[in-house]
Amino acid sequence: MASLGDPKNTIAILNKYQFMFQKKFGQNFLIDTHVLEKIIRSAGVTKDDMVLEIGPGIGTMTQYLCENAREVIAVEIDKNLIPILREDTLAEYDNVTVINEDILKVDIKKLVEEKNQGRPIKVVANLPYYITTPIIMGLFEAHVPIENITVMVQKEVADRMQSGPGSKDYGALSLAVQYYADPYIVANVPPNCFMPRPNVGSAVIRLTLHKEPQIVVKDENLMFRLIRASFNQRRKTLVNGLNNSPEISLPKEVITEAITELGVSEKIRGEALTLEQFAKLSDIIYELLRARA
Ligand code: SAM
Repeated sequence: MASLGDPKNTIAILNKYQFMFQKKFGQNFLIDTHVLEKIIRSAGVTKDDMVLEIGPGIGTMTQYLCENAREVIAVEIDKNLIPILREDTLAEYDNVTVINEDILKVDIKKLVEEKNQGRPIKVVANLPYYITTPIIMGLFEAHVPIENITVMVQKEVADRMQSGPGSKDYGALSLAVQYYADPYIVANVPPNCFMPRPNVGSAVIRLTLHKEPQIVVKDENLMFRLIRASFNQRRKTLVNGLNNSPEISLPKEVITEAITELGVSEKIRGEALTLEQFAKLSDIIYELLRARA
């Protein structure tokens, strides 16, 4: 099969099926073989692996995955792409299942139970940028068994996932990602590697999931509500951020007592706290609220 990473071959398929790009689905197809090879290499895909691909498009990366993995499941929302995948670009592979569905509606945990007996899979995708965060958070929060997630995202989102306290990019997404995984930016990818060209720069990021939790917290949900509350108003002090947030309703004296017990200044901003500190703050608040109940 001639690689769709070669723009000539992609254009031939698009013309053959008179395919019309749908902006609402975030369709920017990869047309660079070096980038495709780099993604597969950094995901460490081998013949032992089951890989979930989100949004195969016309199957450009899927072909590489079929060549390198044991089994591939590709979930694509656009019904117009399904005949192209099944009857043409992936027709020669017997190790791929194409599912025509919205990834946000698929019970991925169940799929992995059924298809891989609950053993960890790898996730590889050139993600539709309009739903990057819900897709990644959905995979984490459903506790799907995953070894790593290697995805193309907007460059700015990759930076946010990887940054720590003190950086302007640091926020709720950084903390959520780092709670579950170890992020590593594999490559920056310019717009000319896609058809059509996106208006933003892109990056490939690999998230290697922690085998054992690195941070243990009494109430995960409380910690994430505290994190979101702290970053909703990032220019405010932590006390005011938590006090004014619709995310969480806490008596002001609980907030000030918890911050004192954490051992940081009352003037500190949420953006200065590490993940460990948010976990500790959450545990302190959890105990203070229990003592009051
Ligand atoms: N993997 C292809 C490539 O690299 O050339 C296409 C990547 S394109 C950025 C994103 C793909 O995700 C498109 O094929 C789009 O139709 C699909 N998509 C968008 N929203 C989706 C959703 N909710 N569920 C599944 N696929 C989706």
